[in-house]
Amino acid sequence: MSLYFEEMEMPTPCKNCGEWFDLNDGGPSKDGKYQICKECSDTENR
Ligand SMILES: [Zn+2]
Repeated sequence: MSLYFEEMEMPTPCKNCGEWFDLNDGGPSKDGKYQICKECSDTENR
């Protein structure tokens, strides 16, 4: 698990689903106020 975090440059908890994601790989939330994981961003902005 620690290795998983070390591979991320900017590990950030997604405010939407709670999963950790790399800030560089995420996307903007629907209102654009913060970064969420790519999966949630794709879902919200579909
Ligand atoms: Zn998410």
